[in-house]
Amino acid sequence: MLNILALAKDLDRLANETWEKITLGDPWGLKFREDSVTDHNLFDLARKHPRLLVDKHSGRREKRSGADWEWWVGSDPLGWVVLRIQAKRLHGFNFSMLDHDGELDHEKQYETLIRQCLGRPGHYPFHVFYSGWADAAGKPAWPSDACWNVCPAGVRPPDCGHAAVGDFGCSVVASSTVAALASSGNPKRHYAPEHLSSSVPWSYLFRLATAKTAGVSVKDLDELHAPWVQTLISERTGDWLDTFQMSLLQAPGLVDTDAPALYGDPPAGGDSGDEGNAPDEDSPERQASDDRAGLSGELSSDDLTRTSELPGYVAALRRDRNRPDPDRGPNTDDLVPMATHTLLLDLG
Ligand SMILES: [Zn+2]
Repeated sequence: MLNILALAKDLDRLANETWEKITLGDPWGLKFREDSVTDHNLFDLARKHPRLLVDKHSGRREKRSGADWEWWVGSDPLGWVVLRIQAKRLHGFNFSMLDHDGELDHEKQYETLIRQCLGRPGHYPFHVFYSGWADAAGKPAWPSDACWNVCPAGVRPPDCGHAAVGDFGCSVVASSTVAALASSGNPKRHYAPEHLSSSVPWSYLFRLATAKTAGVSVKDLDELHAPWVQTLISERTGDWLDTFQMSLLQAPGLVDTDAPALYGDPPAGGDSGDEGNAPDEDSPERQASDDRAGLSGELSSDDLTRTSELPGYVAALRRDRNRPDPDRGPNTDDLVPMATHTLLLDLG
């Protein structure tokens, strides 16, 4: 199966590159278009991770679903969880294009995105923001009026060890949270620091579930030997997918990495959230088992409904990634993707 930790690290690397593209490219007159950033990032992921399949449709499919890309995660036996993602890049201090028109008359793009996920089992709408600012010395700078919500200890960058500022070059937030602010009368409804205050690095989509399944904190994840985590995840794919889906369901709880509200009571003697804490003495296996018991107690089968069969365009991507352009084939609705890019992460 795909190496989840390596994927998360590449998501962070691409986020830092995106941050740099925006901080340097904009003032140099080399402004990257939103689509260009998306094309580059998804191409790079496909190149580095042959098990992650990526396809780009020749036409723009965004208006139909409100999504720039659709990310299928799961397996045939476990079912499929689907992230539908709209990307927005920074212009100055604003995500000024949030109000783009949607599919229907009088509908905003974010409303289309949310509506088109309703009633589809296991589909979740998210926004990914491309951002970047530099201080006078050219170093990544976090806006002083934005919350820094990835630190349970309340430590702001650069001292926080939970994430780097550049990891927010590609940050993710539930579209319902974006819509609530963007549709309000708040004069800061497009203001980037306001939106970043409830977002997390996009690598957190995968880090949270992996840390939880391994029974460690997100901060400690990178210090572990990847093969050990990888073996654990491959043996507990079902648990990982349950936890992944729960974290999406509870977004914007996605923010509170170690918060009891998200994952039940913290294990006794667990990470208090203080920076620089010694690692927990409990064995990871033991802790993972305890956490899993706590988590499963909160789940109901209704929460974890998924799509059981891949639609034609995703099945075709898996069957033959070098297939002929679907536009030239039979143009049945089932073969037309719902977004410009389709990603498939098969855990099976
Ligand atoms: Zn921290």
